[in-house]
Amino acid sequence: MQKLRDNGYRLTDAREAVVEVVINSDRVLKPCEVFDLARAHYGKLGLVSVYRTLEKLEELGMIQRVHQHQGCQAFVAAKEGHHHLLLCSVCGRYEYFQGENLESFFAQIGIEKDYQIEEHWMQVFGVCSTCRRQGYS
Ligand SMILES: [Zn+2]
Ligand SMILES: [Zn+2]
Repeated sequence: MQKLRDNGYRLTDAREAVVEVVINSDRVLKPCEVFDLARAHYGKLGLVSVYRTLEKLEELGMIQRVHQHQGCQAFVAAKEGHHHLLLCSVCGRYEYFQGENLESFFAQIGIEKDYQIEEHWMQVFGVCSTCRRQGYS
């Protein structure tokens, strides 16, 4: 919230409800899901506010898009620094991981292919332990 205010963003109740939901979720959320969850906090919320607030949060680097087969219309809270994303393809739970050896792995690819590697993004999909216990695999 402070970061938003520092950036001159006027926090209405509607926007605040959206921010709360996205930043505190441990799952990947689509705008329509943000809408449903945030409406529980602020009944008069409109879908347009949801989209606009998400846009702003993305612009400020507070959330990031998740790439999925159906497109990139889902978001997770961003984390400071360089991380890789691990996602449950059943329930949408996510976590970040570092994986030091990945950095040297990509450096090696650069040498092999003769590319000066600038950056990489990584998302790994799997099924979390909770979902597996419930019979998904
Ligand atoms: Zn799961
Ligand atoms: Zn990396």
